[in-house]
Amino acid sequence: MDSIRFLGAAGTVTGSSYVLKKENTPGILVDLGMFQGPPEIDDLNRAQLKLVPQDIEAVVLTHAHLDHCGRLPLLSKMGFTGKIYMTAATRALYEITLLDAAHIAQNNEDREPLYTERDVRYLFDLAEIVEYGSSFTIGDYFLELFDAGHILGSASVKIENVALGNKSGVVVFSGDLGNSPEELLHATETIPKADVVIMESTYGDRIHPNEDTTAMLQNEINIIEKTGASLLIPAFSIERSQELLHKIDHLKKQKLVKDSTPVFLDSPMAIKTTEVYKQFKELYSPELSDHTKTDDPFDFPGLKLVEKVDQSKKISATYGPKVIIAGSGMMSGGRIMYHALEYLPYRTTRLFIVGYQGEGTLGREILDGGRIVTIMDRKIQVNATVTHASGMSAHADQSKLLSWFNKIADVKKLILTHGEDTSRTVLKEKVNEKNPSLEVYMPHMNETISLI
Ligand SMILES: [Zn+2]
Ligand SMILES: [Zn+2]
Repeated sequence: MDSIRFLGAAGTVTGSSYVLKKENTPGILVDLGMFQGPPEIDDLNRAQLKLVPQDIEAVVLTHAHLDHCGRLPLLSKMGFTGKIYMTAATRALYEITLLDAAHIAQNNEDREPLYTERDVRYLFDLAEIVEYGSSFTIGDYFLELFDAGHILGSASVKIENVALGNKSGVVVFSGDLGNSPEELLHATETIPKADVVIMESTYGDRIHPNEDTTAMLQNEINIIEKTGASLLIPAFSIERSQELLHKIDHLKKQKLVKDSTPVFLDSPMAIKTTEVYKQFKELYSPELSDHTKTDDPFDFPGLKLVEKVDQSKKISATYGPKVIIAGSGMMSGGRIMYHALEYLPYRTTRLFIVGYQGEGTLGREILDGGRIVTIMDRKIQVNATVTHASGMSAHADQSKLLSWFNKIADVKKLILTHGEDTSRTVLKEKVNEKNPSLEVYMPHMNETISLI
């Protein structure tokens, strides 16, 4: 009988990692993500990994976010030589994500790095490209990837145990599921049939507000165009930054914001990621695909790509209105911190927060009304106007999760992962409202459960 072991994202959002296997044979590892958060959460990355290379035949990586791929270099350290299956876009993006993670770890004086750039580069040789919809085998299993619509290259994974025949054997891992409508990417694909589904539950207890985020962004830019002040937008490098560039491209083309208003993309990682997005046009949404035929959807008059730190420091010396897009997305580090320190005390500054802000981050503190905050050991008063576009998220909300799940026929067991307990408990109740007899399971960390 097959079993699944949960090596992360079981009662938490981060650290996604699951092993699907039969007794006494090596199995399939789906993701090996990093735990992200305060030091006590980071300690989980450093705990002995309950995995030996003999446990796994191969790895499947759902997408390039750090909480899904961030512990993969630990496999290099333990001498794993098997294949790591992923889409071509995921390969391009996970190289950026992991090199950045190794770089940040190297520069962190407080903690021993989890791995080095060498471990990361070793891993790159193990990548095996598979495309959506084409099946491949690992041992007794048939696998297929489906477009999850979450970030470029993201996938849900269907794994069928052929040896089990009809009794089987179809296990589906949702990966992270995208928000609807997908602005840049194809819509999330649904999977017709499965016996067991492992589904993310990040927003299991929430429904995204129905707000026009492009109009909100336009309003923010129009205000600083009048006042001559600065608009700060903390943004994740993957997907969110490209979404912002694409929205501004449209606003500029329609003359709803001025061509002369400078937009600084102050993030080397977002710049590299945007280049990758430009290489995978076959993954674009219908609108983005059309847009590409007339011009570059991520480039417009006034866009300034800021690679070097000294260029970044010079932004504050420029006069007049400006938009600054910089990481990190939750203001937990990165170049946005310098801009926050510089600009948040001014009443004329606008801070536009997009998407979810995790507990313990500066973004969350400010959203919750914190007006005296500490940035890089300095206490500052936040006098800026803060606006939150919570609908601009890369994650499915409760209704999208339910509709994705309800389209899968014959499910005997639903396992909820990748969500706080409050969120997955609400989602479990919602699923059981419609389908009272369905077993909905909420595993905990390091638990192993048998399937069917
Ligand atoms: Zn993700
Ligand atoms: Zn467009």
